Amino acid sequence: MSAEWNTVDAYLAEKLLADDPALDAALAANRAAGLPAIDVSPLQGKLLHLIARAMSARRILEIGTLGGYSTIWLARALPEDGRVVTLELDPHHAQVARANVDRAGIGGKVEIRVGAAQDSLAALAAEGGAPFDLVFIDADKRNNGVYVRAAIDLARSGSVIIVDNVVRDGRVIDGDSDDAMIQGTRRLFDMLTAEARLDATAIQTVGAKGWDGLMMALVR
Ligand code: SAM
Repeated sequence: MSAEWNTVDAYLAEKLLADDPALDAALAANRAAGLPAIDVSPLQGKLLHLIARAMSARRILEIGTLGGYSTIWLARALPEDGRVVTLELDPHHAQVARANVDRAGIGGKVEIRVGAAQDSLAALAAEGGAPFDLVFIDADKRNNGVYVRAAIDLARSGSVIIVDNVVRDGRVIDGDSDDAMIQGTRRLFDMLTAEARLDATAIQTVGAKGWDGLMMALVR
C-alpha cells in the first residue's frame, strides 16, 4: 500500500469528518475483542451514510456486520422509524456489534441476525417484509453473486445494492486465481453482465484500506 494513500486519506478525513467518539469507541471495542480491522474506512463509511441519506432510505440490509462500524454509519442515516437489518455469521462479532450499536445510541434501529447470510436471506424472503431501499454487501466474498441475487428479490425498483472489495489489489482480473474470494467476485461481475434487473458500475478505490473498489447497482 502506498504511504501517500494513507496520508491523503488522513488529510481528507481531517477536512471532512468530525470527531466521532462513538465510532472511535466501536473501533477500540473491536480491537479489544480481537476482531480483525476489516471494517470500511471512515471516509467509506461516510460515503455509505450519504448515499443512504440522499436516497431517503428507511430500510437497509447489510450482509457482514463485523463489529457494527459500517452499521453505525448506515443507521445514522435513517429516520426515527428506520431499520438496518444486518447479517453476521460469527456470534462473537455479533455480540461486539450489539454493544457498539447500543453505545452509539442507534441500537433501536438495528436488528442483528446471527447465522449464515444465505439462511438469513432465505428467512427474510419467507417473512415477506417491506423491501429494502439499500443493500450493503460486505461478507464472504465468494458468495457475492449469490447475495446480490438474493438482494434483488428483497429490494424494489429504485433500490441500490453496493458490494465492497471488488478489486482486491487488482487481482479481480486474474481469471486463473485459486482464491475463492477472487473467483466469487468474478462470478459476481459475470452475473452483472447478464442481469437485466440491475444497472451497475464499479469504481476502484485507494486509501487507508489499500487498493480495492466497490460495485454499485440500481435495481431497474
Ligand atoms: N461491514 C463491516 C464494517 O465495515 O464494519 C465489515 C464486515 S467484515 C469485512 C465481514 C464480516 O462478514 C465478518 O464479520 C464475517 O464474520 C462475516 N461473514 C463471513 N461469512 C459470512 C456468512 N456466510 N454469513 C454472514 N456473515 C459472514
